[in-house]
Amino acid sequence: MAKSSKTEEEVPRQINPSTGTEGSPVAVPESASEESVELTVKKKLTALFTLQAIDTQIDKIRAIRGELPLEVQDLEDEIEGLETRIEKFRQELKDLEAEIAGKKVSIGESQDLIKKYESQQMNVRNNREYDSLSKEIEFQTLEVQLSEKKIREFTAAMELKEETVKQIEAELEERRGDLEAKKNELDDIIAETRKEEELLAESSKKQKAAIEGRLLTAYQRIRENARNGLAVVPVERDACGGCFNKIPPQRQLDIRLHKKIIVCEYCGRILVDSDIVSSVEPLS
Ligand SMILES: [Zn+2]
Repeated sequence: MAKSSKTEEEVPRQINPSTGTEGSPVAVPESASEESVELTVKKKLTALFTLQAIDTQIDKIRAIRGELPLEVQDLEDEIEGLETRIEKFRQELKDLEAEIAGKKVSIGESQDLIKKYESQQMNVRNNREYDSLSKEIEFQTLEVQLSEKKIREFTAAMELKEETVKQIEAELEERRGDLEAKKNELDDIIAETRKEEELLAESSKKQKAAIEGRLLTAYQRIRENARNGLAVVPVERDACGGCFNKIPPQRQLDIRLHKKIIVCEYCGRILVDSDIVSSVEPLS
């Protein structure tokens, strides 16, 4: 009887239900058929758990690929937001420029009036006319000063806005670089994972061919209904690895004996023991 050292280690923990004795079933006469049942069930469970490992890896790849486009979308949204802000500031700068131009025009008009009043002062007939013109000149001079003050304020506001625009433009430049890198990364990952996924899909197909129809249907049905895509789960810390409900010791023992396929009484997932788990090579 060829057994791996791993199986021999497990043997003392197995209790033969027909004799109630511990030890290798080889010593028990009717053990030959039981042994074959055990091997058949064990084979089925191993095949199912292998299929689960492959399908889980496919699920993971799809999840990664699903998240990257979201990161790209986030960056694109951020860039759009920055562009909108810059556009808004540019419009405000244009408005301020128009305001300054308007003030310059009114300064020119006031200066023309001042010149006109000054020349009129040369030809006045009395003091009253002279004083009246002086008041007009004074008023226009104040108008010019007021406009100049406004121009200084607008100019300062423009400088501040231009500085902000520069900062946003620098940020925008950086984000565009990030987006470019993220897009390249996405392209690489898509190409890379497509290849990996194709290979895994091929393995999954082959593995499915090795599982009897009734069992495969059950596997696919459980997997579709399970949110995490897990149909075959290990017993971990005395609990179902799928729903985390406790499994009674007797049931755990039955699972370890590989006499029949046992499902979790809470979630319906197929349960496997550590023996099956360690016999399936983990996928990188
Ligand atoms: Zn469960």
